[in-house]
Amino acid sequence: MSETTIVDTSKAVNEFMAERGWQGRSCSSCDRTFFSKPSTKMDVSVCGWHKCDKGGYPFRTYTKRKKMLTPVQISTRMSEYFRSVGFDLAPPRNIANFEGQTDLVIAGVQMFDDVIHRNQKIRNDKVFVAQPCVRMQFQPHVESQEGTSTSFVNVCTEKMGAEFAEHLRSVDHWCTILSKLGLHMNDFIVVMRTSVNDWGTGKFSALELFFSYGGLELGDAAYLLIPQANRPAIPISDIGFGLERMAWAINKTDSYFDVLMPWTANGTREMFDSCRTIALLVLCGVQVANKGSGLQFRRFAKVLSEKYYGSDVYSILAYYFDYWAQFIKPSINREAAVQLALLEIERFVNLRVCETLGLPPPRSSETSQAYFDRLVYICNANIYELRKAIQTCKT
Ligand SMILES: [Zn+2]
Repeated sequence: MSETTIVDTSKAVNEFMAERGWQGRSCSSCDRTFFSKPSTKMDVSVCGWHKCDKGGYPFRTYTKRKKMLTPVQISTRMSEYFRSVGFDLAPPRNIANFEGQTDLVIAGVQMFDDVIHRNQKIRNDKVFVAQPCVRMQFQPHVESQEGTSTSFVNVCTEKMGAEFAEHLRSVDHWCTILSKLGLHMNDFIVVMRTSVNDWGTGKFSALELFFSYGGLELGDAAYLLIPQANRPAIPISDIGFGLERMAWAINKTDSYFDVLMPWTANGTREMFDSCRTIALLVLCGVQVANKGSGLQFRRFAKVLSEKYYGSDVYSILAYYFDYWAQFIKPSINREAAVQLALLEIERFVNLRVCETLGLPPPRSSETSQAYFDRLVYICNANIYELRKAIQTCKT
């Protein structure tokens, strides 16, 4: 977008928001323009951006719905709503991405990767998609920061070739469905910002509206103009929310992970998060490798094998396989998926034990049970030393 277009669109946003009873404000900390309703209970001296507010997630104290909702129930209600207002429902993509700039799908808008990066025909349909995504950059924050997971469902509406007015109509639809789900506009702050991006076809500016619900960033509405080498830039209305965060906002439990883990299991957020993401990767048929999507699989397997071996990891993996299967068609059955994860996790355990005790190396695709059988009954390994070595893979 050129500078004049940005000015025009932000002016259009100001008018659009004012018509719907939002008041424009300026953040005392970051100077960004943001909007809130006059009757809001929130502190509106600063915007809802996590770097400006205190990060306390005050939404947890807001009045709760009578009945809790599962992520898939929320997603279903959204897809029904968007279908009723003229959107098509698009199936999600496989998590392994070969068309664009990332190894794994990180957002629903990547449904356009073949158009943006491979010069395919411009699309004109407007769609709703519930796209499972993986964002590796969240991994260091999962344990320390609430509301963070490396995998999540990006629920989004996408329209290529959208006029800005059409984009704002989509924003309106989002405000409607959020309210219907019990997330009232009074409790939102909407932060406006422009950003400069480059998705590999050249720099472009985007106008974004961030929706923060009682201190929790739920999603954003972006209007993009993607540069193209051999044709005019492509406008895209890209509005995406984090489904699990929406579920947290709707259910108002203490922790984000409260409804994202099996009732009967205990463990750290890091362990549940690693299982969740591995389950998604294996469900999509990702194979371990030293680069690309297979490397991410390997990284999570290493975390599980070095710190959590022996906990309920395999039943937790099966649980998350079933979670993702509600959103994306598995390319492998559950038992085979868990077996794939098991082999990779135990490969690290076997290597650790082999290294600690100086015993013959494990074979490829050898489970820990099979390897340790071999060590004990064929190589005369001391079973007490062996058990002690296995303990080092637990925390
Ligand atoms: Zn701010």
